[in-house]
Amino acid sequence: MLVAGNWKMFKGHHQAREFAAQIRRIPAHAQGVDVVVCPPFVSLDATRHGLGDDSGVGVYAQNVHWELEGAFTGEVSAPMLLELGVTGAIVGHSERRQHFGETDETAGLRAEAALEAGLHVIACVGETAAEREAEETEAVLARQLAAIPRHERLVIAYEPVWAIGTGKTATPEIAQEAHAFVKSLHEAPVLYGGSVKPDNAATLLSLPDVDGALVGGASLDFPSFETICRAGAEVA
Ligand code: PEP
Repeated sequence: MLVAGNWKMFKGHHQAREFAAQIRRIPAHAQGVDVVVCPPFVSLDATRHGLGDDSGVGVYAQNVHWELEGAFTGEVSAPMLLELGVTGAIVGHSERRQHFGETDETAGLRAEAALEAGLHVIACVGETAAEREAEETEAVLARQLAAIPRHERLVIAYEPVWAIGTGKTATPEIAQEAHAFVKSLHEAPVLYGGSVKPDNAATLLSLPDVDGALVGGASLDFPSFETICRAGAEVA
C-alpha cells in the first residue's frame, strides 16, 4: 500500500520544511503503508531535512527529464534528484499533459530514464471527461500504458482527469473497473488519484485492485493526509 502526496505548486522552502517535520510522524501510525511526498523541485531539499534521516517517508519529484544533463532550460535530471536524496519521480501527470505539452512519448522517455538511473516512478494515466463520455476510456488507457515501461520500481496512478482537483471522485465501481483494466495490460501496482479525501479514502483503498492513492489537494493539510494514510493502514 502506497500513499503519495502530490504538493503540486504549493509549499516553498520554509513551509515545506515545517510541514515535513509533521509528516515524519505519520509512518508510526500507518503501518503497512509506504508514505511518499512530492514537493516542488525547489522544496525537495528542505523536505528531506524536515523529515530527517529515519522517517521512512519517501521524497519524490513531480517530474524528471530524460537526459542526464544538457541545454534543457527549466528541466531537472535524475542524477540531480538522486544527489539530493530524492528516491522517485512522478511522470506524465495530467496537469503536465494538459498545460505543458507532455505526451505519451515524453512521459515514457522520462519513466525509462528515471528507472535506469535508479529512481522509483509513479506514471500517471487517465481519461478526460470527453473521452469517458465518448466511451474511449479503455482505448486512451491502453494507448497511454503502451508507452510506459515495465519495471519493478514502477507504479501506475490511474487518475481520471475529470476527478483531479474537482471534488468529483470516481465511484468505487468506476475506479475498480478502470484499475482492473489497467492491471490486465500492465503488471504494476495501481494507485487511484482524483479528489481522494479523508471521507472517501477507506472505500477507495479497500477496492480489490486499488494498491494505494496519489493525493493532491488533501495532501497539503496534515490532518487530512494523516487520516488518508491511516485509512490505508486499515486495509493494508
Ligand atoms: C493529483 O494531483 O494527482 C490529484 C489527484 O489531485 P487531487 O487529489 O487534488 O484531485
